[in-house]
Amino acid sequence: MTTQQQPTQQQHVVVIGAGYAGLSAATRAGKKHRVTLVAPEARFLNRVRQHETFAGHPEHRPALAEVLADRQVTHKQALATELDLNGRKVFLDSGEVLSYDTLVYALGSRTAWHGVPGAAEHAYPAERAAELAARMRAAAKPGTVAVVGGGLTGIELATELAEAHPAWKVRVVSATPVGHHLSAKGRAHVRRVFERLGVEAHEGRAVTAVTAAGVRTDEGAIDADLVAWAAAFEPRELAAEAGLAVTPDGRAVVDEYLRSVSHPDVHVVGDAAQVRVEGVGELRMGCVSALPQGGYLGDLLAGRTAKPFAFKYQLQCISLGRRDGLVQLVHPDDSMRDTVLTGALGRWTKSLILKVIIKGLR
Ligand SMILES: Cc1cc2nc3c(=O)[nH]c(=O)nc-3n(C[C@H](O)[C@H](O)[C@H](O)COP(=O)(O)OP(=O)(O)OC[C@H]3O[C@@H](n4cnc5c(N)ncnc54)[C@H](O)[C@@H]3O)c2cc1C
Repeated sequence: MTTQQQPTQQQHVVVIGAGYAGLSAATRAGKKHRVTLVAPEARFLNRVRQHETFAGHPEHRPALAEVLADRQVTHKQALATELDLNGRKVFLDSGEVLSYDTLVYALGSRTAWHGVPGAAEHAYPAERAAELAARMRAAAKPGTVAVVGGGLTGIELATELAEAHPAWKVRVVSATPVGHHLSAKGRAHVRRVFERLGVEAHEGRAVTAVTAAGVRTDEGAIDADLVAWAAAFEPRELAAEAGLAVTPDGRAVVDEYLRSVSHPDVHVVGDAAQVRVEGVGELRMGCVSALPQGGYLGDLLAGRTAKPFAFKYQLQCISLGRRDGLVQLVHPDDSMRDTVLTGALGRWTKSLILKVIIKGLR
């Protein structure tokens, strides 16, 4: 096992990315060090609630200034465009160049199109959720919306849309059975909610193209006026471009202190990192692991811990519209337990967790 030297002097820590991982690292590191946080948005992105934006619900995005209050953190509203890892410099699209003692790379992930023709042109990803909501609001009459992806994000999105727009037909198109990774009880509950809300599931259908008329699959076309894309995420390319050691899909490889294995003065957290934890395995992309990674790293940099990163999964929490939810208990390695909480209790638990996430940023 490698060891982590604690910085005894105050350092300049540059954090790029203000998602769950970057923001929680910045607020905690800012208790000891001078921190510069680089991210383009003024309000916290809060991606786990973007399915609500698709359905036209109000956004829950605290101002970054509010989250950063009373910490030694300066927010630069900009994009990092290039990294000079030997010279310890970060180049911003504003023209500014930042020098650092320690860099925290937390650029998260974005929607992956998997090279499907027409998808980027005709489908709405979470990053453009508000545009789909506006199109549904402006439509002269109710139509059909197809949601591509039957994983957690696709389930949350489809149920939210169906509940908010009962006159629209919502169709989920998925290569795998919807919620295939859930326990039998979890899958059964999702199916019941789909029936109640009139959501159609087109399972075992791999989407091969998206057109203005809907989606094409390996088993024929499925009509839709609008298509929402909830298929998968991919990391951004800056890590690989800068020369950090990365996996074939572009996530930075880190050690047990979440330090780049190629550049020890760079820490990588959240969806941008490939993190392995003993007894758990490789962590999946998710707020569930990004937030603890950021919090841990901030504490490590501030000298509040010297231990390696420890983590285990406990539950998966899925909202099923505003009144229903599913809390699926899992083993430490994220495999399913039999126990689920459903209905209003599941929904209440999910709402509580969403509040705890915001508190956890500090
Ligand atoms: C609709 C939806 C629902 C979800 N639900 C869940 C859920 O229930 N549970 C769960 O665990 N996960 C869920 N996820 C996944 C979760 O949102 C991500 O895994 C999580 O956001 C990753 O956090 P992160 O901090 O690594 O990065 P992100 O949250 O992706 O944040 C990345 C940050 O980097 C910034 N950035 C990007 N490029 C640059 C640049 N060049 N320069 C500077 N800053 C940059 C961004 O603006 C942002 O501030 C959901 C995702 C979606 C879209």
